[in-house]
Amino acid sequence: MIPDTEICIIGAGLSGLALASALRADGRDVTVLEARDRPGGRVLSQNGHDLGPSWIWPHNHRMLALLDRLGLRSFPQHTTGRLVFEDAQGAIRRDLDFATMGGALRIADGLASVTDALAAGLGDKLRLSHPVSHVAQDSTGVTVTVQDQTIRAAQLVLALPPRLAAQLGAIVPEVPTWMAGQTKLVATYPTPFWRTRGLNGDAISHRGPLAEIHDASLEDARTGALFGFAHPGAARSDGFRDAALEQLVRLFGPDAAEPTELFFKDWSMDPATATPADQAPLSGHPSYRPIPKSARVTFAGTETASQDGGFLEGALAAADAAYAHLDRHSHPM
Ligand SMILES: Cc1cc2nc3c(=O)[nH]c(=O)nc-3n(C[C@H](O)[C@H](O)[C@H](O)COP(=O)(O)OP(=O)(O)OC[C@H]3O[C@@H](n4cnc5c(N)ncnc54)[C@H](O)[C@@H]3O)c2cc1C
Repeated sequence: MIPDTEICIIGAGLSGLALASALRADGRDVTVLEARDRPGGRVLSQNGHDLGPSWIWPHNHRMLALLDRLGLRSFPQHTTGRLVFEDAQGAIRRDLDFATMGGALRIADGLASVTDALAAGLGDKLRLSHPVSHVAQDSTGVTVTVQDQTIRAAQLVLALPPRLAAQLGAIVPEVPTWMAGQTKLVATYPTPFWRTRGLNGDAISHRGPLAEIHDASLEDARTGALFGFAHPGAARSDGFRDAALEQLVRLFGPDAAEPTELFFKDWSMDPATATPADQAPLSGHPSYRPIPKSARVTFAGTETASQDGGFLEGALAAADAAYAHLDRHSHPM
């Protein structure tokens, strides 16, 4: 049984976790309900390789401060060398002295080390494998339905993409979910062999199935890794894995043929991130803005941040805005 709580947060992505951690530090009674059996949401790392976000940027002050607080380190995205370009007819150039992600920073051991550390600090206040199916508000609080039980809370925070909040009965505007339609593929290798050939691991391809590739080697580069974003929908075809491997060989040479591991995540097929509306590719970065809050229902999640919305930094900005709102509207149980 989940006890009733002062503040119920739905979603243990970066935003919900950061908010819960700040509220817990103030001694507030918080319960976080998370549908998946792991924390992190769109943050997902496998053996230190990121299948969700990889990068933060030097202007992401909230993320940098959080890393400091958690004792975690960042390191620069590898950018030394030339980019590979493939046009739609398959013609390949390897003479472009250019890197697409110069200045970006990665997190040692992967971004899940951030969300795992926040989750560890919440102890049993974080309930994994607790998918919420409905929320309702009345004059004295909110009722949250999880599987076969309901809990009462004085206040509710919806820390999940607005399209998913709408499925729970919350009244929200139509807001697209950033990156929900994407697939990310990681191939690991015994060495970052492309570096010794003067390539930086970046590739842009109009032929596909991967549209954009980057070096994803771990910080010490003792082993190598490349990651690629697939052309929208490409991962839903049966031959995706083989076609992606064939493309890596085309672009980076025969050493790419034998990865140590090759894994991918099609976020568009994951109902804890995407809805059918997310299958259509976004034409650009949406301009996100806060969703109006009420005294009892507050929104967090990166799609509600007016600055850096869609990004990790926006997830923290949204958590800060929800924290300030909850500070002003305290309704003890
Ligand atoms: C492939 C990919 C690459 C990206 N690259 C970058 C990058 O390089 N840099 C960057 O800054 N950002 C990047 N992003 C965006 C970044 O991942 C997000 O901004 C951030 O993780 C959003 O955090 P959030 O907490 O707002 O939402 P989410 O991480 O989506 O968290 C929402 C949580 O709610 C849970 N949930 C959903 N439904 C329910 C329910 N019914 N009941 C209970 N829980 C529920 C979900 O399981 C999830 O844990 C990328 C995203 C993807 C997918």
